[in-house]
Amino acid sequence: MSEPILVTGGAGFIGSHLVDRLLADGGSVTILDDFSTGHEANVSAHPSTAPLRVVRGSVTDERLVDTLVAEHPLVFHLAAAVGVAHIMSDPVASLHTNVRGTENVLAAAHRYGSRVVLASTSEIYGRSTEVPFKETANRVLGPTWIHRWSYSTSKAVDEHLAFAYAEQGLRVSIVRYFNSYGPRIDERGYGSVIARFVTQALSGEPITVHGDGQQTRCFTYVTDTVEGTVLAARRKEALGNVFNIGSAEEVTIRDLAERIRRMLGSASQLTLVPYEAAYPTGFQDTPRRVPDLGRARDVLGYSPTVSLDAGLALTLAWCRAHYAAAGERR
Ligand code: UDP
Repeated sequence: MSEPILVTGGAGFIGSHLVDRLLADGGSVTILDDFSTGHEANVSAHPSTAPLRVVRGSVTDERLVDTLVAEHPLVFHLAAAVGVAHIMSDPVASLHTNVRGTENVLAAAHRYGSRVVLASTSEIYGRSTEVPFKETANRVLGPTWIHRWSYSTSKAVDEHLAFAYAEQGLRVSIVRYFNSYGPRIDERGYGSVIARFVTQALSGEPITVHGDGQQTRCFTYVTDTVEGTVLAARRKEALGNVFNIGSAEEVTIRDLAERIRRMLGSASQLTLVPYEAAYPTGFQDTPRRVPDLGRARDVLGYSPTVSLDAGLALTLAWCRAHYAAAGERR
């Protein structure tokens, strides 16, 4: 990838790993990030000589997006309000960022002929029970007053926009991420359950398993997430198409909590927290979330390589070092 690359959300969790990979592949990268859930530390690790430019700004700024997209033939659009806790806490701002921001990026890419990879989510499938989820599956969502579903809906609007622009000639591919994790996860940013459990286990607080803990996820190590994203930008066959990017290793949340506690040698207790207590304004969960990876394998040549135990070992080692340092600074 020799052409200049724009990564929106490049200071965030997945975005910063994507930037690492693009720079390692010899790319020259511009990051657009408003640092709402992204971090300086995620970008400052790059050598100062790296061909990297950081623009502090929002994808909701139409003129800024227009200027940047015009300069970049390839755009990875990852900037979004992400994480269930974050969406629940400010649904209006989240909807605004996810819909308006993507509209700006896609419209500009269409204007200038840039190729786009749009980051979407397994939340698209909602609470469907038709596992594994195929890209062609129906979406099953709860009522509109449950804020959780606004994230799924905002990302579905993004996907609709992408397909609509594709019909008008935009070169775009969509990747639906399944529960990515790895070094740099943090509770206040992307807010994955793994970050939460690790924080609790390291401080000896109870590990809060929601519901009965039998709900499942296929946690995907971030280098596998990045690999699927890069493949979607390279393959011609990926254009106008959408792909599940995840892992096939399904685990219950209870099992996850136990693994994290054991691997950290933590004395924390596991405690079951009813959903009503965790989310007093109303909540509905996805009981099983498993990707069908057939299309990603056949079209992109994608297959995840990092097992949950191996990925957790790498992640927990990073968290041990960095959460302790952050705690000391507070
Ligand atoms: N979860 C949990 N305890 C927590 C936070 C989350 O048991 O303190 C559960 C949550 O209810 C869900 C799963 O962990 O069933 C994954 O949650 P996350 O917010 O990471 O992402 P989701 O997969 O729901 O988008």
